[in-house]
Amino acid sequence: MIEVVSAQRCLSCDKCIEVCPTNVFDRGPGGIPVISRQSDCQTCFHCEANCPADALFVSPRTAPLAAAPDAEQLAEDGLLGSYRERLGWGRGRTPGARLAIGPPLRPDAGAITS
Ligand code: SF4
Ligand code: SF4
Repeated sequence: MIEVVSAQRCLSCDKCIEVCPTNVFDRGPGGIPVISRQSDCQTCFHCEANCPADALFVSPRTAPLAAAPDAEQLAEDGLLGSYRERLGWGRGRTPGARLAIGPPLRPDAGAITS
């Protein structure tokens, strides 16, 4: 469930507002998104994955945490935007698909045609 928007990191790009399928955010003062409808959050991670500033933290739990985590502490612990980082999205990162573990592809492996 969405827990934190870091006002310090946010670029006011509206991306998280646009991608959220359940309209959890409102545009707040200065363009910083406000978590207005947390209970509508589906824990889908779209907002965190798409935030270019790694300014969001979605907890893997589907219920709100007892106390909202501190943005600075999350940043210190490397958790702000960590889902996006693990996906490998963002400048200078390696896309996660390139790091996926699996059997090596045969060089002669072609497209499946049937
Ligand atoms: S995790 Fe999904 S549903 Fe929740 S705020 Fe982010 S985009 Fe919206
Ligand atoms: S996607 Fe990130 S940078 Fe853009 S408005 Fe949302 S929190 Fe701010």
